[in-house]
Amino acid sequence: MAQSTETDWVSRFADDVIAESERRASDAKQSPAAAPVVVVASGLSPSGPIHLGNLREVMTPHLVADEIRRRGYEVRHLLSWDDYDRYRKVPAGVPGTDPSWAEHIGKPLTSVPAPAGSPYPNWAEHFKAAMTESLAELGVEYDGISQTAQYTSGAYREQILHAMRHRAEIDAILDRYRTKDKDKSKGAAKGQAQAGQAGQAGQAAQAKGGQKKAEEAELAAEEGSGAASEDDGSGGSAGYFPYKPYCGGCGKDLTTVTAYDDGTTELTYTCAECGFSETVRLSEFNRGKLVWKVDWPMRWAYEGVIFEPSGVDHSSPGSSFVVGGQIVREIFDGVQPIGPMYAFVGISGMAKMSSSKGGVPTPADALKIMEAPLLRWLYARRRPNQSFKIAFDQEIQRLYDEWDALERKVADGSVLPADAAAYARATGTAAGELPRTPRPLPYRTLASVVDITAGAEEQTLRILSELDPARPLTSLDEARPRLDRAENWITSQVPAEARTVVRSEPDQELLASLDERGRESLRLLLEGLDSHWSLDGLTTLVYGVPKVLEGLEPDAKPTPELKTAQRQFFALLYRLLVSRDTGPRLPTLLLAVGTDRVRKLLGA
Ligand SMILES: [Zn+2]
Repeated sequence: MAQSTETDWVSRFADDVIAESERRASDAKQSPAAAPVVVVASGLSPSGPIHLGNLREVMTPHLVADEIRRRGYEVRHLLSWDDYDRYRKVPAGVPGTDPSWAEHIGKPLTSVPAPAGSPYPNWAEHFKAAMTESLAELGVEYDGISQTAQYTSGAYREQILHAMRHRAEIDAILDRYRTKDKDKSKGAAKGQAQAGQAGQAGQAAQAKGGQKKAEEAELAAEEGSGAASEDDGSGGSAGYFPYKPYCGGCGKDLTTVTAYDDGTTELTYTCAECGFSETVRLSEFNRGKLVWKVDWPMRWAYEGVIFEPSGVDHSSPGSSFVVGGQIVREIFDGVQPIGPMYAFVGISGMAKMSSSKGGVPTPADALKIMEAPLLRWLYARRRPNQSFKIAFDQEIQRLYDEWDALERKVADGSVLPADAAAYARATGTAAGELPRTPRPLPYRTLASVVDITAGAEEQTLRILSELDPARPLTSLDEARPRLDRAENWITSQVPAEARTVVRSEPDQELLASLDERGRESLRLLLEGLDSHWSLDGLTTLVYGVPKVLEGLEPDAKPTPELKTAQRQFFALLYRLLVSRDTGPRLPTLLLAVGTDRVRKLLGA
């Protein structure tokens, strides 16, 4: 295993992260005998349904953490729930919400009511729950940290007071980048460009930071204001403050700090929303947070984060990752984590009707149509800087074929080392193997069978047992959960007009119109049915009939003429069985229809 993993990206990052972890431990003059706990981190903002694309934010450090665990190190994978962020907008199409939720804009996500009917106490918890469930199914082990809990318990008190003492230095760092931004393009124009990109990206991933930035840019574009600069805490007439209280009157963050005393830590703010004003002592006040561009590097230092990836838009000069690198070093005496930028993850062909949670494909939607190891594999086999698409359309069948071919190569030992590594990372973690389907029948076959049987269990079991008569299926459970995923795919993603409907009565008109050659082809097929009644047998039979008609041997090499004859024969069978020119693969279709009905429909 150690040899075979050396060639993949996960292993290379694991090497770097372990080396950096040991370097930091030796700098800190810790006992060299004690291996350091390696800390990696992800951050998610439960501002609405968590997009499937955001899964890369978690999977990238997860895979690296898992490799490090496999090497015997102790690893903490922190998953920071940015649930103390402000509620920015009401996402469209979330069941149980209406435009009245807009009255909560500006409050922390944990202070916004959950959608109607939710069993969860607030907005953030509602959307965290769905993600938590998916991460469990994916075998992702992590320490979840609620930023609401951290801030409101005063966990960051020293860091906040420290940042306030050094606010002029923070302002100076931020100003380096503000100037650069202004030089390039003025004010909100940058925000609009970003909003445009976010719009074009459409179903693509919205990364941590990337998500925040996209939302800010939208706000700036909508309001034509300087909202895009809000996250760095640009101050009012009293100067710059990297800290924003949530209002004691209305609970929103539309506050401006008007005075601060470093000696007493007395802070005065006013609220633009409700006019409330008060003076608090920051050394004992817990209802506010550092602005994002200071908050993120503060936490790198606080937690000792060694690896934390971020979305591809963080490569820009004024991005929070780049600015954060300066702030963590110059203000918090910390070190920026190893932070690869990851590329967008797209979605192909998701049916609108099935995105159950507000028009956004979530990890739960993907896990309805594919098994966890397959979804893990998509992330494991691509370097973070490679973009890829998660298939909700026909492509999922090809993806499963590729996966099954990989499993065969692993089983017979012909697999390439990097592919073997990706396979191992997909099918299990340091904690053990993920659940798998005992008899992994081809996904496209399962999909076709379910398409034809409409999920009728008895009929499905009969057909699946006849696929391989030498090893019949004894129970549908052997084909699960893959069978259930294929069924969900058929029912939720394949449009009604693409579904297969087997004829109940023969097409007498078509049968009567056949010439001698057409009738002979059907006779040959019907004659061979009983002796070829398996997936392999029927494959031989349907390809063989046109060969016999052409006067060729059954194992003859295909010629252009033969291929044409085969296409015509297949089209005839589809028309007679399902009244269309195409359909599921014929051997599967014949098995699914059953011998009696095949004979009837083919005019026997
Ligand atoms: Zn207020």
